[in-house]
Amino acid sequence: MKDVSKEGVMTVHLTCSECGSGIHVYPSQSSKKATCDICHNEMDLTFNADHEESVLKDCPSCKRKDFYVQKDFNRKVGVVLFIIASILAIYTYGISLIVLWLFDLILFSKLGNVAICYNCQAIFREVKNIESIGPFNHEMNDRIVYSGHDFKGKQLEH
Ligand SMILES: [Zn+2]
Ligand SMILES: [Zn+2]
Repeated sequence: MKDVSKEGVMTVHLTCSECGSGIHVYPSQSSKKATCDICHNEMDLTFNADHEESVLKDCPSCKRKDFYVQKDFNRKVGVVLFIIASILAIYTYGISLIVLWLFDLILFSKLGNVAICYNCQAIFREVKNIESIGPFNHEMNDRIVYSGHDFKGKQLEH
């Protein structure tokens, strides 16, 4: 994965519908398509003036308005570190696992928040209006993913 982050500018991370690779794009009303580096598949995008201001109201990929907020944590890195620490634990009498646990705590507290589209799983970093987006809601997720329900950006209240 390429690191193309610019300070304070929203980035969009899409998953290629053909090969599953990550595609990074910056919002720009002139870019109507994102091209996958791996398989050259093109994905349609619709950016508006909000996106250029790092404001997320509509998904540029699927045009839906429902997002949730999550810590920006890379699970793959976590799994690899855990395997390494587990192997080292044999030689270090478990100390490596404690080090990993501490490392995890420090790393986790420094992570930023990302917004994720319920419908197409596009990931948005450096979103200015992140406070207006709610945490993951299982009921909303089930209704969007399994019955195609569109909440149009409204949080489900109980
Ligand atoms: Zn691809
Ligand atoms: Zn979407």
